[in-house]
Formats: sequence, C-alpha cells, structure tokens
Amino acid sequence: MQHYLFCPMCTSPIVTKFLDGRDLDVCSGDCGFVHWNNPVPVVAALVYCNSQFILARNRAWPEGLFSLISGFLDAGELPSSAIAREVKEELGLDVLSCDFIGFYPLKKMNQIITAYYVRAEGTIFLNEEIADIKKLEKDSLIAFDFGPLKLGKVVVDDALLKGLISRV
Ligand SMILES: [Zn+2]
Repeated sequence: MQHYLFCPMCTSPIVTKFLDGRDLDVCSGDCGFVHWNNPVPVVAALVYCNSQFILARNRAWPEGLFSLISGFLDAGELPSSAIAREVKEELGLDVLSCDFIGFYPLKKMNQIITAYYVRAEGTIFLNEEIADIKKLEKDSLIAFDFGPLKLGKVVVDDALLKGLISRV
C-alpha cells in the first residue's frame, strides 16, 4: 500500500486513524482527506485467434513466464472497450467478441481484475510492452503451467467452467 507523509490536498502531516475497521492514512489538518486505498481496476484477456490461444510475456517479466494480455483503463472507458484496445495495441489483433469470464481481486497489487474471453483476428504484431508470445492449442492451454502467475490458471479454469473454451 502506498503511504503518504503529507496530505496531497493541503500538505498537512498524515496520521494513522482507525476508520471503518482498519488503519488508514488521514490528514491531520481540516481538509478531510482520507487515503482509502481503493483498488485499481485492470482488464485482462484470454485471447483466441486462428484456432489457438495466445499468451504473452511482458518485457518486465522473467524468461519463461507467460500470461493473459492485460492493461489499465483510460478515463471514461468501459472495461470491454479497454480490453479490445489493449489486445489491438499489444498484439495488433482486431477483437471480434468479448465474453465476460469473471472478477478477480489481486490483493497484493491492490487491483481488481476483470477478465474476458476474447476472440480476435488479424496478423500478430507485438508492441514494445510484449517480449514474446506463446500460441497454444486448447489442450496445451488447459495443461499450461502459469508458474507464479496463478491468476492465469484460475481464469482458464473459469472459462472452461463457463463453457467459453469448449465452444471453440
Ligand atoms: Zn489535508
């Protein structure tokens, strides 16, 4: 969790106060600022294109780690539009359909992830954020070891449960 030393509104020192059942950073002055530490929304996509699933490795990740395409929302953007934009930006693919898989709180990162099953078409063109991709057939995806990025496995399992994968 990000901590403030000084109030971002009025620059008074920040103090810790027990509010709504937890310790929070609050302004010691009169401005009323409370750092609620609300989670950041993130969108993620399990991408299916040309009869294969596409996982990606972010440049910041160690060799061998692959997971879903993900990104942040622009101001005023719908999550479904955000994921279509991210798939286009990161893989160069056009999104044909976008089916909701689930919401996943990632407490360690203070994020709430909205995951979609995305069918896409086009020619893959990676942007600078993506170091490498992995194309998998359905059986390989189901058996894929996401390593420490366990959320990918949970999303794949939920997509199976919802019948999104078996429809392909
Ligand atoms: Zn203040």
